[in-house]
Amino acid sequence: MNKTVLVTGGAGYVGSHACKALAASGYVPVVYDNLSTGHADLVQWGDLEVGDILDSDRLDAVFEQHNPVAVLHFAALSIVGESVVKPDLYQRNNVQGSRCLLQAMAWHGVARIVFSSTAAVYGVPMDVPITEDMPKQPINPYGETKAAIEDDLARSGLSWTALRYFNASGADEDCQTGEHHTPETHLIPLVLDVALGRRENISIFGDDYETPDGTCLRDYIHVTDLADAHVRALARLLDGGKPGPFNLGTGIGTSVREIIDTARAVTGHAIPTVTAERRAGDPPVLVCSNEAASRELGWRPSRAIETQIADAWRWHQARFGS
Ligand code: UDP
Repeated sequence: MNKTVLVTGGAGYVGSHACKALAASGYVPVVYDNLSTGHADLVQWGDLEVGDILDSDRLDAVFEQHNPVAVLHFAALSIVGESVVKPDLYQRNNVQGSRCLLQAMAWHGVARIVFSSTAAVYGVPMDVPITEDMPKQPINPYGETKAAIEDDLARSGLSWTALRYFNASGADEDCQTGEHHTPETHLIPLVLDVALGRRENISIFGDDYETPDGTCLRDYIHVTDLADAHVRALARLLDGGKPGPFNLGTGIGTSVREIIDTARAVTGHAIPTVTAERRAGDPPVLVCSNEAASRELGWRPSRAIETQIADAWRWHQARFGS
């Protein structure tokens, strides 16, 4: 049976962990990545084909050469703030690029795709926990680009799954891959930068929200649990499973202060904080229901926030420590 899977964006954070999980399950990942934000040294579980999803000729050649049975599509720009400043760039990369990829799949008769989506498609949710049937109402261009491709998939006739990640965190437990964004905007790696002495303090973006400690609650999910969900989603599609979206989170809300306190306990460093203005577009609480993924994929995330931060810390020291 053909086990080759094309992994766009496989040199990135979630994509590289997915490649490790794919290889461990007997698949043959082939990474397609333009290395604009990914890292060639994180591609360790299969071939790397350098290319852009906007480049139809290059896609054509790679599909021809590797003949994948399915695509895992991670390649995208993913910084919310940048998407507000450069919406056209996001439209071009994330929407046009994905359409180019879907076109190449059609040409080559590849009918299955697992799409990397996001909690940002929900915008400010009507209620929590968030379920997949809640309306898609993104409040920034990044979320809009992901929602647009989900809509394309729903109309496509393809066999597809959209995985809506909540807050991806942590790193591979063997420290072979992990998070490496430039610039870094996410809370946990920034907190670990303070622990490592690369930054003086961490800003808390708003401490007067209507939450138990006044800071925002997010649903942090270990990247290895995310990777496992991709392998399950792929197997389900190969088995003839129905198209649709799944939320991927633990269903547990953790506050900004709780993240910082846990990081203090894990690293043994003081991690000074400063209170800053609220960040525009931050909903107070984003927590998902993962019941659909549990039911349909048999997926159960197993790594709690302490493990997420401990694994991220090990990686952070190895990658960024002096
Ligand atoms: N956050 C913060 N300080 C930072 C970065 C993030 O207080 O330097 C907060 C942010 O406002 C949000 C949470 O941490 O409530 C998670 O933010 P992140 O950017 O990691 O992920 P997001 O939830 O925006 O996808």
